[in-house]
Amino acid sequence: MDKLPLPYSHLRSQLESGQTSCLQVVNSYLEQINALNSTYNVFLEVYEEESILRAKMIDEKLKVGKAGKLAGMVVGIKDLLCYEGHASSAGSKILDSFKSTFSATVVQRLLDEDAIIIGRQNCDEFGMGSTNENSAFGPVLNYKNKNKVAGGSSGGSAVAVQADMCRVSLGTDTGGSVRMPASFCGISGLKPTYGKVSRWGLIAYASSFDTIGPMAKNVEDIELVLQVIAGEDGMDSTLFDASKSYNRNNKIAYIKEVVEHPSLQKEIRDAFFQQIETLKQLGYEIEAVDFPYLEQLLPTYYVLTTAEASSNLSRFDGVKYGHRTSNPKDLIDLYKKSRMEGFGEEVKRRIMLGTFVLSADYYDAYYTKAQKVRRLIKDFTDKLFEQYDFIVSPTTATTAYSIGEKTKDPIQMFLGDLFTVQANVIGLPALSIPMGEDLEGMPMGFQIMGKAFDEDAILGLGKKLNNE
Ligand code: GLN
Repeated sequence: MDKLPLPYSHLRSQLESGQTSCLQVVNSYLEQINALNSTYNVFLEVYEEESILRAKMIDEKLKVGKAGKLAGMVVGIKDLLCYEGHASSAGSKILDSFKSTFSATVVQRLLDEDAIIIGRQNCDEFGMGSTNENSAFGPVLNYKNKNKVAGGSSGGSAVAVQADMCRVSLGTDTGGSVRMPASFCGISGLKPTYGKVSRWGLIAYASSFDTIGPMAKNVEDIELVLQVIAGEDGMDSTLFDASKSYNRNNKIAYIKEVVEHPSLQKEIRDAFFQQIETLKQLGYEIEAVDFPYLEQLLPTYYVLTTAEASSNLSRFDGVKYGHRTSNPKDLIDLYKKSRMEGFGEEVKRRIMLGTFVLSADYYDAYYTKAQKVRRLIKDFTDKLFEQYDFIVSPTTATTAYSIGEKTKDPIQMFLGDLFTVQANVIGLPALSIPMGEDLEGMPMGFQIMGKAFDEDAILGLGKKLNNE
């Protein structure tokens, strides 16, 4: 495994002692972006001049000891987050011409602490995908191997960190979109507890699942960014401050059905059990548990998220903002054509699926049923967490696919989320950290899921395992 770089805290002392400057830091990332971006398709837009100006301004603040907590931390943001005066396109043609009039809470909090936002990162359209191949602006390539996908939907955000084009990225995770690309690219990524980080200014996909999470090489950097972006915000009423101190018993569970799953790549299984040995050496007691709902996770997730998406995406109608068809016959024609031309194939599939499961005749059979199963999964998992501090698993069943390998078969694509969606279905936090490489040299990931609002414990364990 590659050695981890030094965390932001180290850069911070160099900035304060004058050994380096924000300007130098920004320039080195810009150089890397200029060298790689046309090949890897990571940033849809680079805020070059703006970053340089901000760097100079923050260098001045550092000199007088007035710089914020993230001074000089170079961050990239997924194209699903709004940034005032900047374009946000959600990886979609339908928002290609859209500029945001306000900033997402997370973006504003980064700026307030003097982070430098270097650009906006490619992603699957509206966050729908697992390989970044659903972006209207082309796929992102994996920096380890150009023939492999980056993972999705935060593919640009993952490769930007992997290839040192920025220190930290803000991705979004509705079913695994921070953790899966983190795993495919050999970096770390956190999906926070639902309700921990404000969704204000995040272009919604499935509102009861969506979360925003940091991705970085160092878990320490993720921790710092989380502290800045988390917490109460008048703009998102689902937030609450529920930091609890749990009783711990140093017991960790893994799910039998996961490690026995036929799709699990052998090297990943082996690396996972090695990681279990490491945990034992660290003093944890590890037990295998049954989880009878593994097969129900993906159907539950896809019924509910497509239902929410069909409702959320109804606002893109060619009237209020974004793409509008050129010669509509009448209003209905304007709606239809604008949406037909603006949305990609996967987004249309999900809108149709979601509209179907919400339709009067099928509502109870699909939507209501899925909500009930969601509850069962939550109750069962909550019981497990009465006995265990963490539930661990591989982040994904395989390493990164080849470009084009899964695009013909949506079900195969959906299977990629098998181990990550549980955390989203029930709103729990989960971290993916690197777990070595397979025989082809592609990165593998280890997932630590924890109790609600127990990010500190998850990140603490992540740091131990990362040797930070
Ligand atoms: N791959 C999943 C999906 O397509 C997860 C996406 C996400 O987390 N945004 O829905």
